[in-house]
Amino acid sequence: MRRKLVVANWKMYGSLMQCREAVPTLAKAVDPAVELVLCPPAPYLGTASDLASASALHIGAQDVAAQKEGAFTGEWAAPMLADVGCRYAIVGHSERRQRHAESDADVVAKAGSCVEAGIIPIVCIGETEQERLAGQTEAVLARQLGPLLEARGRADFVLAYEPVWAIGTGRSATPEMAQEVHAFLRQRLAQVDAALAEKVPLLYGGSVKPDNSAALFAMPDIDGGLIGSASLQTESLLAIYRAMQ
Ligand code: PEP
Repeated sequence: MRRKLVVANWKMYGSLMQCREAVPTLAKAVDPAVELVLCPPAPYLGTASDLASASALHIGAQDVAAQKEGAFTGEWAAPMLADVGCRYAIVGHSERRQRHAESDADVVAKAGSCVEAGIIPIVCIGETEQERLAGQTEAVLARQLGPLLEARGRADFVLAYEPVWAIGTGRSATPEMAQEVHAFLRQRLAQVDAALAEKVPLLYGGSVKPDNSAALFAMPDIDGGLIGSASLQTESLLAIYRAMQ
């Protein structure tokens, strides 16, 4: 049985006050059958972890350095995330790939550093609108996934399919479109290792809202969601979480 999970990416929004209000409410609502992972901005990770510590709510970072330590001003390493109680880290979000020029190799290095520190990487991949219109979706995803499968084929990771054109735009992929891509990704995983394909949760991300989440999560290869703007309101995040339950 694959894990089911809903991951909330607050991006660079929120405040300490919002953490103090949201975390206890989420912690109370979480049911171990479906994991709930809150990824607040880095300054709030320690507080969020402390507030969630007695519950099944997991805390994750939105990014991590590839290195274990060193002269990398402004960055943080996977062992530091483990130190403050994080269980997950998002790597390769399209906003990082685009704004910080992260390459597929950088993303794999970050995922590897997470695995070594006992942090589960949530690896994001996805095509741009231009790539989709040019019929390159599968080729782009295969390219992004390739180094990860070579390097970390047997490690514990979560894969998030996030079409770039659907992130923050209000234009979600339809459940059928998302399912088609997830089936393709599952098949790529199975080419490396059939057991791996059965184990890796595949999340869909891109304008998931309370009103479209149930239809997306009903698809056989969608094991959960990565939620951006709709995760900032606790009630709307919980509505999406309940759709997964
Ligand atoms: C995201 O940030 O990963 C995301 C999916 O954002 P949104 O839900 O706002 O599209």
